[in-house]
Amino acid sequence: QSGVVIVGAGMAGVQTAVALREQGWRRPITLLGAEPHQPYDRPPLSKAVLLGKAEDSAFDVDFEGLGIVLRLGVEVTGLRAAERELDTEAGPVPYEFLVLATGAEPLTLPGSEGVPGVHLLRTLDDAARLRPVLARTPATVVVGAGWIGAEFATAAREAGCAVTVVEAADRVLAGALPAEVAAPMAHWYEQAGAALLTGAQVASVEAGRVLLADGRELPAGAVVVGIGARPATRWLAGSGVGLGPEGAVAADEYLRTGLPGVYAVGDCASFPSARYGARLLVHHWDNALQGPRVVAANIVAGKALQVYDPVPYFWSEQFGRFVQYAGHHAGADELVWRGDPAEAGWSVCWLRAGALAAVLAVGRPRDLAQGRKLIETGAPVDPAKIADPAVPLKSA
Ligand code: FAD
Repeated sequence: QSGVVIVGAGMAGVQTAVALREQGWRRPITLLGAEPHQPYDRPPLSKAVLLGKAEDSAFDVDFEGLGIVLRLGVEVTGLRAAERELDTEAGPVPYEFLVLATGAEPLTLPGSEGVPGVHLLRTLDDAARLRPVLARTPATVVVGAGWIGAEFATAAREAGCAVTVVEAADRVLAGALPAEVAAPMAHWYEQAGAALLTGAQVASVEAGRVLLADGRELPAGAVVVGIGARPATRWLAGSGVGLGPEGAVAADEYLRTGLPGVYAVGDCASFPSARYGARLLVHHWDNALQGPRVVAANIVAGKALQVYDPVPYFWSEQFGRFVQYAGHHAGADELVWRGDPAEAGWSVCWLRAGALAAVLAVGRPRDLAQGRKLIETGAPVDPAKIADPAVPLKSA
């Protein structure tokens, strides 16, 4: 009996295996992971692990005790759905149910691959390579002012490096937040002593320097590229699994793919959200925690039982701030500020048809917690009360 086979031993894969056992699945579970390391959590890689404050971030899961067969260092190269079999370098692996949880892989800067001193930050190996680099405090260029770029710049400043962040868009977090909301965050870079160059295109990266399209030359003892990630789904080409925009597995509301018995979850998969009237591709930790519970429930039930339609949530720790976000603001019709962005704590609320659609909280975890619940209930809110940071969100 082949039972459930999970491809990808990251957060989503591990949580799927654990949730299956928690929900009463007694038959075999096999977890296949390409990396050789004991499965680990990624958020600490750009925080404590990078600075050497934590040795590693392995998950505290007793795989053996749970009867989960963990096969590490095994890359899955193909899926033959007609035979219900996977291809790996170690031979074929049959499955009865299959869960695709291969996560995402970082985008590389064309022309920078293989140049000495250029780094990505996705894996434990990446973090282990970067740690001694930071300890040498070279002049560091960070390409991309997104979540990872900001967190890495924070760590590099803390380590004592001179940091320049180069961003092609005209602002930080351009892919994630509207200009008005991102604007105050640009000051965080300066305050931390990092130079931020927006609207700056990298022309080429050479050992020891980065050349910009406008002719500027930046000395760079180290370069970290944080320009986004794409679902790790190339191996599924021709398998019959439907891939949507950005190459994500296009799952349905039960996180099923179009192939019998095949599910997809975490950073590698998009899903339709009735709550937001859009297909969502979420590259955040909470999605890799919640999605697996739905996949496990549907596998254990043997039918489409639970729909996955979460209020997405994530956090980021940058420049001494705790930034949290819940919801999805595309399609919102009103934006309400709560507090002054020059202060240590402030929030932004997005409303859609009189209800809260999303909240961004900087140093205001209570706003996040209460806002998240309000978004879930869909209750109407009063914009005037929301705008007053002294009124708890739950009373708005
Ligand atoms: P992954 O964690 O990418 O795991 C997928 C695994 O599958 C990988 O180990 C990969 O090696 C393996 N795999 C891929 N292809 C194959 C194959 N063909 N065969 C076998 N195995 C394969 N989110 C937040 O909300 N807050 C944060 O502060 C935050 N910080 C982050 C910091 C960093 C440095 C990174 C990289 C991410 C961060 N995230 C954060 C995002 C969060 O970590 C991801 O959303 C989460 O890891 C997704 O889990 P996953 O299991 O879907 O994918």
